[in-house]
Amino acid sequence: MQKGYWEDGNKLQFDGIVTAAAKTEQGLVVRFEKTFFYPESGGQLADGGTVGGTSILDAQQDDAGPYVLLPPGSSADVGQHLLCIVDAERRGRHTQLHSAQHILSRLLDDRDIRTLSFHMTEKEASIEVEATAVSGSVLTEIEDAVEQAIWRCLPVETLFVDRADIAAYDVRKVPELAGGPLRLVRIGDLDTNPCGGTHVASTGEIGAFAIIRSDKVRGNTRLYFVAGRTATAYYRQNDAVLREIEQQLTCGLGDILASIARLQQRDHDAARQVKGLLAMAADELAHQALDEIALHGVAVMVLDGVPTELARMVTAKLTSASGPLCILVYPGGGTDGQFVCSVPIGSEALLATFSARMKETFGAKSGGAGRVIQGKVDTRMTLDQLKPLLVTE
Ligand SMILES: [Zn+2]
Repeated sequence: MQKGYWEDGNKLQFDGIVTAAAKTEQGLVVRFEKTFFYPESGGQLADGGTVGGTSILDAQQDDAGPYVLLPPGSSADVGQHLLCIVDAERRGRHTQLHSAQHILSRLLDDRDIRTLSFHMTEKEASIEVEATAVSGSVLTEIEDAVEQAIWRCLPVETLFVDRADIAAYDVRKVPELAGGPLRLVRIGDLDTNPCGGTHVASTGEIGAFAIIRSDKVRGNTRLYFVAGRTATAYYRQNDAVLREIEQQLTCGLGDILASIARLQQRDHDAARQVKGLLAMAADELAHQALDEIALHGVAVMVLDGVPTELARMVTAKLTSASGPLCILVYPGGGTDGQFVCSVPIGSEALLATFSARMKETFGAKSGGAGRVIQGKVDTRMTLDQLKPLLVTE
């Protein structure tokens, strides 16, 4: 049998006898008399590893069977023996996720939730199940049940049976592929299902399992899970984030939520205070502007490090002004800011002149409606530069 991984899923080093080697754009396609490199299929990712010391780029299969892809420029001769080593860590990760999926799908199946598809990444795996939703309590129950199946260290065996005899086995799903005996994977007294993937020898090897989130997909539900090495990596990563949050908030894990609630309250209070201060400042600035307009016919102001909203609040108050007002605001205190300009009711035509002058002199575009316009500035302007733009000819 060409598919050595079907005979012995634990063999990770073998003497590969080359039966074909073909150059392609992607690299050298090499086939062996018997291979233990698992090709990407059935939701399980491709193995990694080395062939004659060269790392393989991929392991796939086509009508002619499984093959590995070596980097362009590689060479291999038919009949040549090459030392092949399967990346054990990578295979282990895939095998743990895949075996956990069998258990998970069986336990869901027992609750009339059918598995429709299986997908794997290097970090997690997921199944799409035929259900519009799966409740949190059911997920917790299932998660506990998967863990128990792991703790029972159930043996995982591979059987080859005739398609005609399949009724004797309580399989979840019979594939529609034609011909040949079926490869069944039996997990103790828990589950038997046709599968071409690689699996742990005992469920205990899966070690850890967790359902980490669920998504709605095409009216069904996708359940994401981690198992074994991916579970450890997932929790390590999350733990590092939690440690960082603890440091930032200078509190322990148990106090994080209370600490966030305090910060939110502080933020809420600060926002309310800023609102009050802005209202007071707008009143004061509006008075100043009216005084200046009364004296000089026009008022200009530069405000540093305050919200643009303040300028809008001031112009909104100037309904009884007799001349134009322009406020330059630099919220961040830098050179990027906004200008807000208002004119007395009835003098709206002046805004078009001012807008054109701002564009001509500073390249500043503006827009607005009624007696107020607003625009962006990316330079520091002085009052002396600004004033002439507001004076009518
Ligand atoms: Zn499987």
